[in-house]
Amino acid sequence: MGYDVIVVGGGPAGLSASIYTSRAKLKTLLIERKCCGGQMAITDLIENYPGFSSAISGFDLAIKFNEQSKLFGTEIIYDEVASIEDGSTKKIITMQSSYETKAIIIATGTNIRQMNIPGESNFIGRGVSFCATCDAPFYRDKNVIVIGGGDSAVQEAVYLSKFAKTVTIIHRRNKLRASKILQEKIALHPNISVIYNSILKEIYGKDLVEKVVITDIETNKNKDLKVDGVFVFIGLVPNTLALPNIKLDSIGYIMTDESMNTSVPGIFACGDIRKKQLRQIVTAVADGAQAAISAQHYIESL
Ligand code: NAP
Repeated sequence: MGYDVIVVGGGPAGLSASIYTSRAKLKTLLIERKCCGGQMAITDLIENYPGFSSAISGFDLAIKFNEQSKLFGTEIIYDEVASIEDGSTKKIITMQSSYETKAIIIATGTNIRQMNIPGESNFIGRGVSFCATCDAPFYRDKNVIVIGGGDSAVQEAVYLSKFAKTVTIIHRRNKLRASKILQEKIALHPNISVIYNSILKEIYGKDLVEKVVITDIETNKNKDLKVDGVFVFIGLVPNTLALPNIKLDSIGYIMTDESMNTSVPGIFACGDIRKKQLRQIVTAVADGAQAAISAQHYIESL
C-alpha cells in the first residue's frame, strides 16, 4: 500500500487536511495541479482570516500553509489527476503516474467562470484577464472594466484602481452582491465607477482589446466603451474530476455530510468543491480539518 491518505488539491482546504493527516502520522501525499494555494494564492489581500489583523497577501498565506504542511511530513507533488478508482485499495491515476491509497480527500476547489461572449477567448492574455493580482501592472494608467458584482469583482477593482487610470465595474443588476465593507471601499477610490443593469455583449480589437459593447438590460440599448482591459469575476465553477459514483448536485459540487463523507466510503471532500453555503478560506480550512479526522477514523476502522 502506497499511502494512507492522498489529498487532491493544494488550496486552503487540501493543505489544512494534509496538515491534520500528517500530524496524525498518516502517510500523506498531496497532489496539486499548478502551484499550492489555489484561488487564495492569486488574491491580493486577505483581511478576514483570523490572526492577521493588518491583512496578509494571499500568496504569503499560501506559502505559510504549504510550509506548515511540509513541516509535518506531507509529500507534495505537482501533477494532474485524471481519474480515481474505488475498490478495497483506492487508486489515483495522474497524467504522469498512479498511486494507491487507503483514503482520498478531494479538495479540488473551483475555477473561474467565463462569460462565453464573442472576443473573450480570443483576447485572453491580450486584454482579457481573470487575475488582477497577476496582470494589474500591465494596465498602469489605462482604462479597464471589471465584470461582476460579487466580493471578487469589487476586491479586484480596488486593487486595479492602484494601477489603472479608470476602473469601471459592469454589473448585471442594480445592486452589488459584494459585502458592505468591500462596497464602502469603492467610495475611497475616485477612479472606480459602477455601471448597473448592464452586461457585456462583445469584445473588439486588433492585436489587443480596444473596445467593448455593453447592453443596458432595461432599455436593451447597446453602447461602445473604449477600454484597454477586461477583468472577468463572475463567479466560480466546480473543478470536478472523473469520480467513481460520487453524488454531485445539479451544478457539479460534491455532496457531503457534515463529517465531509461523500457517497463513497473512504472518499472525503472539503472546501469549495463541496456543496455548501459559505466559500471562504476560514470555512475551507475547517472543512479540511474535519475531512482529515474522518479519514483517520475510516483508516482505523479498516
Ligand atoms: P459570486 O459571489 O458568485 O459573484 C459573482 C458575480 O458575478 C455576481 O455579482 C453575479 O451577479 C455576477 N455574474 C454571474 N454570472 C454572470 C454573467 N454571466 N454575466 C455577468 N455577471 C455575472 O463570485 P465571486 O465574487 O467570485 O466570489 C466567490 C466566493 O468567494 C464567494 O463566496 C465570495 O464571498 C468569496 N470571496 C470572498 C472574498 C472576501 O471575503 N474578501 C473575496 C473574494 C471572494 P448577480 O449578483 O446578479 O448574481
